[in-house]
Amino acid sequence: MSVYDKYKAVIGLECHIQLLTKTKMYSNDIAEYGAMPNTNVSVITLGHPGTLPKVNKSAIEFAVKLGIATNSDIREENQFARKNYFYADLPKGYQITQDKTPICTGGYVDVKLKDGTEKRINLTRIHMEEDAGKSMHDIDPFESLIDLNRAGTPLLEIVTEPDFTCSDEAYVYLTEVKKLVRYLDICDGNMEEGSLRCDANVSVMLKDAKEYGKKVEVKNMNSFRNVQRAIDFEIKRQIDLLEADEDIAGETRSFNATDGSTFALRSKENANDYRYFPEPDLQPVFITQEYIDTVKSHMPELPNDLLKKFTKEFGLSEYDALNLTDLKGLALYFNELVTYTKNYKAAANWMMGSVKSYLNENAIAIEQFNVNPKAIADLIALIDEGKISNAAATQKLFPELMLSMDEAPLSIAQRLDIIQSNDTGALQELVDLALAKYPEKITEYKNGKINLLGLFVGEVMKMGKGKADPKMANQLVKEALEK
Ligand code: ADP
Ligand code: MG
Repeated sequence: MSVYDKYKAVIGLECHIQLLTKTKMYSNDIAEYGAMPNTNVSVITLGHPGTLPKVNKSAIEFAVKLGIATNSDIREENQFARKNYFYADLPKGYQITQDKTPICTGGYVDVKLKDGTEKRINLTRIHMEEDAGKSMHDIDPFESLIDLNRAGTPLLEIVTEPDFTCSDEAYVYLTEVKKLVRYLDICDGNMEEGSLRCDANVSVMLKDAKEYGKKVEVKNMNSFRNVQRAIDFEIKRQIDLLEADEDIAGETRSFNATDGSTFALRSKENANDYRYFPEPDLQPVFITQEYIDTVKSHMPELPNDLLKKFTKEFGLSEYDALNLTDLKGLALYFNELVTYTKNYKAAANWMMGSVKSYLNENAIAIEQFNVNPKAIADLIALIDEGKISNAAATQKLFPELMLSMDEAPLSIAQRLDIIQSNDTGALQELVDLALAKYPEKITEYKNGKINLLGLFVGEVMKMGKGKADPKMANQLVKEALEK
């Protein structure tokens, strides 16, 4: 047993998601990403005297959506507070946030762990706030540059309980959060671009200890993978300290992606006193049950609900269902496809096989895929009715459908002349011809080399130019050989 096995880790995550609203949290400034620096900065963003903020309704709606999706209690009376601190990219000198009255409490996110079991991650809170501007230290060799376009853009902060026990769990949680916010269309979930950010709080304790150890907060990870690396590094670093009889400093640390280490940024002991007080310029926002119900009625089916539907109602494997629900567009397409066909397994196979390959080869998203789900269902029906073989559908019909998207699959099949003949007489002739071609092989077959069956069937299929039904050919050849 290694020393590391004596300990267990305790981890809580704080995520900021940048909302896809058109305008900022408390002003009409445009909130787009990538605009010319300092062009979307009004006097309200700058907090000039005499200006008044007002709350963005879309941001409220987005928060309510996330609250519903995470089964949170949604607060009726929402107050805002000022969090005061001095920093170059914070022009007002304070951030308007929700301190004591977060809009959501008591929610949870269910995640699927690697071993297949499910785990519930409880959320402490979700609250609304605004972002600061962006300081850039690596563009000019001498000066730090500041872009205030981001100042005032809306964020939701999602804080979890310390429910994670290892970095893998944190990883699947983040994947789930990303999936969720994308389904809800409230955030693009792009950690590399900073629209989803995550800080990890990590502590370790002896397995039989009663109290949590001292926690360390790690910042500045720009991918899920790096959150995982930072947590793993921290757990080991903290255990090593305890084993060497040293104290763990309660501090904020930064992640170094180059070597996967963390280093101290600032100590929590002399942490900022933010002097929170109620924002005097904003009225509380009241959220009624009626409003919540309206928002709910416009929400899409959520990934976990779809997963249940696909496995329980459609009998798909968990693997297939996970694949299909990974991206909202794919799931919605499939959801429509199965209104036209009851062959769910075939529908899933076509989605994950030919359709996905086509999307990948052409580097397009399912939203740009112009084939009607009905056409895919028709194609499946042609196979199920025995009109075309699976091979002809994959190799000939599907590619042709991609070229002439408005033509019905049946018409394409006729045009390509791949409709299987159900004429047993014609097929029997081909079988006879195939057998006549290799008389000596018939004897070998009869002497026990039964895998010669494939040779004859192959010959029939070749002569049938793709129109012979392989199942029927197989059966007729077998019968002929065993006569
Ligand atoms: P702070 O006041 O330092 O910000 P909070 O109580 O707000 O601390 O918790 C912040 C985050 O830290 C939450 O995600 C919480 O789950 C997590 N956390 C709290 N205690 C611990 C601990 N002992 N170990 C790891 N994470 C913790
Ligand atoms: Mg905190």
